[in-house]
Amino acid sequence: MIDQQIKAVIRDIHDFPKPGIVFKDITPILKEPGLCNAIVDAFINQLNGTRVDVVAGVESRGFLFGLTLANKLGVPFVPVRKAGKLPYAIKQKVYELEYGTATIELHTDAFEPGQHVLIHDDLLATGGTVTAASELIQEMGGIIAGFSFVIGLNFLNGKERIASTSNKIIVLAE
Ligand code: IMP
Repeated sequence: MIDQQIKAVIRDIHDFPKPGIVFKDITPILKEPGLCNAIVDAFINQLNGTRVDVVAGVESRGFLFGLTLANKLGVPFVPVRKAGKLPYAIKQKVYELEYGTATIELHTDAFEPGQHVLIHDDLLATGGTVTAASELIQEMGGIIAGFSFVIGLNFLNGKERIASTSNKIIVLAE
């Protein structure tokens, strides 16, 4: 099963990036091309015909599988980036973190109003980042097609947080 294959290769890094945090390091997945292909195939399988016009990948690890997924679906990929990284005209969303705020941005021409946008990231923790992305996309007239993640940290209840935005939530390993 894909979840077991993913769990077998990711590694826990203690006290990264701060003391007390256990960080899930997904980089070993990237060294296994067969597993990378299987991950993208699993996303497509679980999308099960869901309408996706655009895949929006969240900086930076959301770019890794987000682009390949979009390519394989035959739809555009757009990057959701941190403030100040996108060169063209942008729309932005400021959202709350545990301490302070963060800003994400999209190009104004990332998609057309009414298009169905799949939000993709490597990992679902509290759901704060993808909630901000979904709010930005909706403010720009997009419809949330769903969410896809390689890994979910169940104990942080991210799924519950995003469930009211879309009932299509794909988490390959949790
Ligand atoms: P959330 O907004 O709390 O759901 O955090 C998710 C975001 O933080 C994603 O963009 C992840 O890439 C990143 N993140 C949080 N914890 C981890 C981790 O343990 N490993 C990899 N990325 C993480």
